[in-house]
Amino acid sequence: MPQDITPSEGRSAGLYVHFPFCLRKCPYCDFNSKVAGPRERDEYIEALRREVAPAGPDWDGVIFSTVYFGGGTPTLYSPRILVDLLDLLRRTFTIAPGAEVTIEANPKTVDIPGLRYLSLNGFNRISLGIQSLDDDDLRFLGRIHSSADGLAAFHSARAAGFRNINIDLLRGLPGHTPEKWRDLLQRTVALIPEHVSCYALTLEPGTRLFELHQRGDFKMPDEQTSLELLEVTDEVLSSAGLQRYEVSNWAQPGRECRHNMNYWLDGDYLGLGAGAWSHRKGHRWGNVAEPPAYIARLFSRSSPVEEAEHLPAEKKLFERAMIGLRLVQGVRWADLVAGAPEEAVARLRRALHALAQDGLVWFNNGQVGPTPRGLVLLNQAALRLMEELS
Ligand code: SF4
Repeated sequence: MPQDITPSEGRSAGLYVHFPFCLRKCPYCDFNSKVAGPRERDEYIEALRREVAPAGPDWDGVIFSTVYFGGGTPTLYSPRILVDLLDLLRRTFTIAPGAEVTIEANPKTVDIPGLRYLSLNGFNRISLGIQSLDDDDLRFLGRIHSSADGLAAFHSARAAGFRNINIDLLRGLPGHTPEKWRDLLQRTVALIPEHVSCYALTLEPGTRLFELHQRGDFKMPDEQTSLELLEVTDEVLSSAGLQRYEVSNWAQPGRECRHNMNYWLDGDYLGLGAGAWSHRKGHRWGNVAEPPAYIARLFSRSSPVEEAEHLPAEKKLFERAMIGLRLVQGVRWADLVAGAPEEAVARLRRALHALAQDGLVWFNNGQVGPTPRGLVLLNQAALRLMEELS
């Protein structure tokens, strides 16, 4: 952690641990994840353990109310290794009793005994990368699991004691019509998950799917269909008691992902592992992204931090507004502008009022948030905020 940041006594924060390995690289994925052999995977855990110990004193006095093991595929590791690491985190940091402790899992990498071990030893939320319950979709996405594996993983997690399960879905794949998508969603909500994350498939430059699309190998749904898919998503999920609380996230009341809420509300967080970012009172710093470089740094007792930045107050304010507008409930204006220079606040107010006139943003009772149209046109709203800033 940069030296000029003093511990913020009593504040709660999120703790993220990154596991950058997968059994196979999916052709649409641009996350920091890759395939690696057992030696690199073992060394990575040792490196993580070496990063944890010195970080403890820096975060003294901070209560972590969420822990998130994400990736990559954390469940490539044995449940014992994952639980040992969680124990180390508990011994090193102050983790609130009742903290939300999430693990991401690929359906092909879990079984009931392993999941039971995780749920009995501190993990109380699981996020399953099911992505689709259609085998053609899963083949297109290059996933290593079938729809049957996805269903089995969900039932295994329930049987193992998880009472808070997220299902990740991808919409807007080639061939997704509103009818087909409705059917997929109905089969998903029949499982009664507490939470569904549903992202539109995006083709990121540098990925295999992007190349294939450039070559004309497949067509993505047009804009009108994409809008209809989103409408169907909200309709089916809300009918099943899952309320939309963020652009791409739906939850049963009280089951919103607390870890991600902390990001969207601009809270503090500590990220451990390759490429993980941390944030403390406006300072941000990120670790070197490549696992071998991360391992080498920790093994030679060097800092894994590769980049650090302190955002100017005005940029920080606009960024906070853009992230806050992802939340259906919006953000409290007073929280949003706290500590920001007056001139920047005035510019932001002007920009948001212009968005409100176009029906993208609402103001109410000291809150500002996105209208349903604003949620759909979020990128446009963000772009206009950026223009106002530049
Ligand atoms: S499993 Fe997830 S993190 Fe791994 S390659 Fe596929 S999409 Fe990326």
